[in-house]
Amino acid sequence: MSTAYCYHCGKHHPIEEMRQLVTKTGKRWRCIKSIEATKANRETRDAFGKKISEINKAESQSRARITLNVGQ
Ligand SMILES: [Zn+2]
Repeated sequence: MSTAYCYHCGKHHPIEEMRQLVTKTGKRWRCIKSIEATKANRETRDAFGKKISEINKAESQSRARITLNVGQ
């Protein structure tokens, strides 16, 4: 079974579990697992950021309502 050095993990993995990427410094191998993990992390972060901005929006709306009530 042939392996290649994964620049992300700093370890060797079986080539079937890896993908060859072309970078500025040349062709490098990286495991699909780490690529998928990075992708999943980014999606989680995006979803989290979206959620936070929704909460902030809802909060500022309710704050605006409270301010209005106080003003009356
Ligand atoms: Zn790896």
